[in-house]
Amino acid sequence: MTAAAAAAATAIAAIATTLPTRSESKTDTERENGKESRTKRYGMVIDVRRCIGCHACTVACKSEFDVPLGVNRAWVEYVEKGVYPNVGRSFLPRLCNHCSVPPCVTVCPTNATYKRPQDGIVVVDSGLCIGCKYCIQACPYDARFLNPVTGFADKCDFCIHRVSKGLVPSCVNTCVGGARIFGDLGDPNSNISKLIANNQVTVLRREMGTFPNVYYIGADHTDELDAKRPEVRKVQVVTHRRHEERR
Ligand code: SF4
Ligand code: SF4
Ligand code: SF4
Repeated sequence: MTAAAAAAATAIAAIATTLPTRSESKTDTERENGKESRTKRYGMVIDVRRCIGCHACTVACKSEFDVPLGVNRAWVEYVEKGVYPNVGRSFLPRLCNHCSVPPCVTVCPTNATYKRPQDGIVVVDSGLCIGCKYCIQACPYDARFLNPVTGFADKCDFCIHRVSKGLVPSCVNTCVGGARIFGDLGDPNSNISKLIANNQVTVLRREMGTFPNVYYIGADHTDELDAKRPEVRKVQVVTHRRHEERR
């Protein structure tokens, strides 16, 4: 470790000791969810065959959380492949994967990012966040950003304020194609569990070992990296993020 890195680590440790503990900064939603008796494991299935690329989910999420311009908690990527006239476009709705082994949690020096034991949702406690961006660098899915208004790390939280009241996340509620299905993966009788049991599903970047809880049916997961594969002649992903930022 360099002297500068050691000094930064010391500074962060000093800040962390002055921050409130999570129990002191509990939200109403957390308290409500704490009353739930059965542990859940929330997840989402995205059936790409049903997605029409309308971006209604992106807009609904923006509206739900007043997300500033230039950043997104949920978004839809366009995957364009082929060389004219043999070209095709598919859609890839995206959000935080609420990973079972989330590297964003491991690197957070203040425990601001954590996985809720009652339902597996990965959240950011803004009362503990110091805006160091470690989690943004650690996420292999570009699911996080520093909110330019608050200065804290931000991302999808499966709309816990809605879910705690028995509603589905806003992106699910607004999906005109019925492509986003939310539910309890721990309940074998839930719709989402049945979908996973009866369809071939995939996850993003399985090789990262993060065990995402967002599953895809019929997805084309190719991205810029696939351009290096000889069998793929041309791949272009249209996204709100610049190419360099997605590496
Ligand atoms: S997708 Fe990224 S931000 Fe979400 S839990 Fe996984 S590592 Fe963390
Ligand atoms: S920016 Fe991320 S890693 Fe840093 S304190 Fe906030 S949540 Fe934790
Ligand atoms: S709202 Fe549904 S159909 Fe429209 S882009 Fe989002 S996931 Fe696809």
